[in-house]
Amino acid sequence: SSDDRVARITKAIRVIPDFPKPGILFQDITTLLLDPLAFKDTIDLFVERYKDKDISVVAHGLIFGFAYAGVEARGFIFGPPIALAIGAKFVPMRKPNKLPGPVISEEYSLEYGTDKIEMHVGAVQEGERALVIDDLIATGGTLCAAISLLERVGVKVVECACVIELPELKGRDRLGDKPLFVLVS
Ligand code: AMP
Repeated sequence: SSDDRVARITKAIRVIPDFPKPGILFQDITTLLLDPLAFKDTIDLFVERYKDKDISVVAHGLIFGFAYAGVEARGFIFGPPIALAIGAKFVPMRKPNKLPGPVISEEYSLEYGTDKIEMHVGAVQEGERALVIDDLIATGGTLCAAISLLERVGVKVVECACVIELPELKGRDRLGDKPLFVLVS
């Protein structure tokens, strides 16, 4: 059942206190990736939800803020297998100066200062329907920036989906009425 699968996924996520700095309970999904059944369950649960929703874009947020700088690659793990399975394109959204072609960018605020995400010009067309995926929603800042960027070029963001939600940070509220689907809270 779906509950059994969520239980398996929850068990496979390792929690590391005080990483990358004191006070943060880091949700480590690398242990989920070490468990092929739990990893497959994760992808399957998303695919079952999104396969018949006429979605042509799976876009990816990225790892937020300087606290997580350097682990951005973690952001690209869940999007591509979901995109392949539902027959959608995968659009990477990245930190500045990582994408080689012309980009459009969106600035967003951090605890101290601002950061930017970028997407290739021409990666999406006006009128396309997108799903925005991330491994985890904390404050929701990353997802909001991804949504704004896509909406600026006329894409409809149908839903955001994350493996993990940290509900005490109220990221869901920041998304307003944009639907958010999470597996583990
Ligand atoms: P936010 O923009 O605040 O919603 O932060 C979301 C991003 O930061 C995600 O891409 C996460 O990978 C990363 N992140 C934030 N808090 C944590 C945490 N406690 N454990 C692991 N990743 C985190």
